[in-house]
Amino acid sequence: MSFELNLTTEELEKRTNKDFLIRKPMLEKDAEEYNNLADGDKEALKHLVKAANYANLVYMKQDNVLNIPFKNYLEEEIKKGNKAAELTKILFDAQLGIIGIDSESKPVILLKGAKVLDGKAFYPNDLSKEEFHTILKNMLKDGKKEEVQAILNQRSIVKREGNGLKAFDYTVEFKEEFECIAKELEMAAKTSTNKDFNEYLLLQAKALRENNPMSDAQADKKWATLQDTPLEFTISREQYADLLTGTVIEDEELKLLLEQNDITAISKDSIGIRVGIVNKKGTEDLLKVKAYLPLMAENMPLKEKYEQNISSEEDNLQTMVDVDIVSLRGDEGSYRGGITIAQNLPNNDKLSLTIGGGRRNVYHRQVRTSNSPEALERRKKRLDATLDKELHKFYNPEADHWFTIGHENVHSLGPKSGTEALGKYKNIIEENKADMGSLALLDCLTNAGVYTQEEKNQILVTFGANCFLKAKPEMSQAHRVRTVMQAYFFIKEGAISVNNEGVININIEKMIPAARKMLTEIIEVQLSQNFNRGEKYINDYFKWTDDIEKVSAKLKEIDKSLNGMLVTPLADLLSEG
Ligand SMILES: [Zn+2]
Repeated sequence: MSFELNLTTEELEKRTNKDFLIRKPMLEKDAEEYNNLADGDKEALKHLVKAANYANLVYMKQDNVLNIPFKNYLEEEIKKGNKAAELTKILFDAQLGIIGIDSESKPVILLKGAKVLDGKAFYPNDLSKEEFHTILKNMLKDGKKEEVQAILNQRSIVKREGNGLKAFDYTVEFKEEFECIAKELEMAAKTSTNKDFNEYLLLQAKALRENNPMSDAQADKKWATLQDTPLEFTISREQYADLLTGTVIEDEELKLLLEQNDITAISKDSIGIRVGIVNKKGTEDLLKVKAYLPLMAENMPLKEKYEQNISSEEDNLQTMVDVDIVSLRGDEGSYRGGITIAQNLPNNDKLSLTIGGGRRNVYHRQVRTSNSPEALERRKKRLDATLDKELHKFYNPEADHWFTIGHENVHSLGPKSGTEALGKYKNIIEENKADMGSLALLDCLTNAGVYTQEEKNQILVTFGANCFLKAKPEMSQAHRVRTVMQAYFFIKEGAISVNNEGVININIEKMIPAARKMLTEIIEVQLSQNFNRGEKYINDYFKWTDDIEKVSAKLKEIDKSLNGMLVTPLADLLSEG
């Protein structure tokens, strides 16, 4: 196949320059964390790293049908000495696909003529939203309930068949890749030193070979119990990429038909894999907060109106680990405007939660800590330009980690069902809930002795200073849209202000009440299970005001970076052996 590159050589040279393309290093070859592992775990790690590499293939296929042909084309061109292809390949590997998005929320399209698709490659690339809805309505009217159910679940690739559509389960569509992953997991289980971890690996290998969601549920259930293991391995199934499935509720007739047939549409899972080494010290710090989850649940607004995700018992079903990252691949490793610093899985739609399974939070150490001289210099410049001098003493990057711990925990609190009704706005609202819960519950955690007053202030100020983005995001960027909503809301509530020079001031006293107010509204929206209400809620607060623009313009001046890429020296070494 022949392709045409989309970016000019000048643009490619700029975007691959180190000031524009940030390098994010994961564990080094000679890392102490690796050297301290038992031999059996070192051997297992090799197989896990190899398993992770297959996730890239699955993810690229789910993302765009042209990804792999284009990648092959680039590799051929590079052999012929094509310099532009070489630079394009650097960006392709960083974002893992022909279409990504940069940190200024502009699409980065590497192949000429490629179009951004809401249904990614989960659906046929010529399927419009309207045709999708029409086909589903016809299928339901023809009594094809099971077929529609398979199309609208989280684990299928949908293709055209005649005038209709047909779903292919991931275990069928990605049989080859899943088999390769399963084999590596079985080999890892032979030498890894932890019995529970090995039991999980074998359950996961089994699930990859069976078209049976219950096998995944069993694997997820075991995975979520892992607390004291030397190694970390996760197959993540996140739903941010698929923006088509959720639209079915926008068509009134279809929505009604789905209700009559008792079908809930669930966005497709993007496959990613994380491999790491559990960090004992970091994990101990996380577990200190875990003890307070029931207290946090008690202090959630409107708690009497829904069933809590966690039980109020002392021994709730949540585990949490801090991990030194060896490898992030597939959905976990594609750098599109950023890379995730922590995850709380499984998500609400997963079957394991209905069979007594819990959740597990994993924090990514190498992603959050950037103490390189360049990073420190960038941070200082940023503060000098955008944060009131009096507040600098409260700014603490570690406080951002504490905030994230709260965020992940709050994902486990609040209404646990019915949020699918919010359709494409579901993720933005859920992420907003997690953020606001993290701030709103700070008083109760401070009173309980988890944080000092000083630390509480650091969390509030660091959050406020980080509330501003370099550019207005697209609606598809759940994690960014909610940041704009928060900046707007906190300014409206007088908790944050911006002066004429674009300098942020924070009224610490007003921060927690503002967060609590926003959190209450969010939970009301979730409980309403009303799409229009969700849409209105987002439109009311997703506003790019002059104040926000003033800060944004300054940020753009200071921070030139547009993209990022992972560097994984230890993983690269292990996958060769
Ligand atoms: Zn989150």
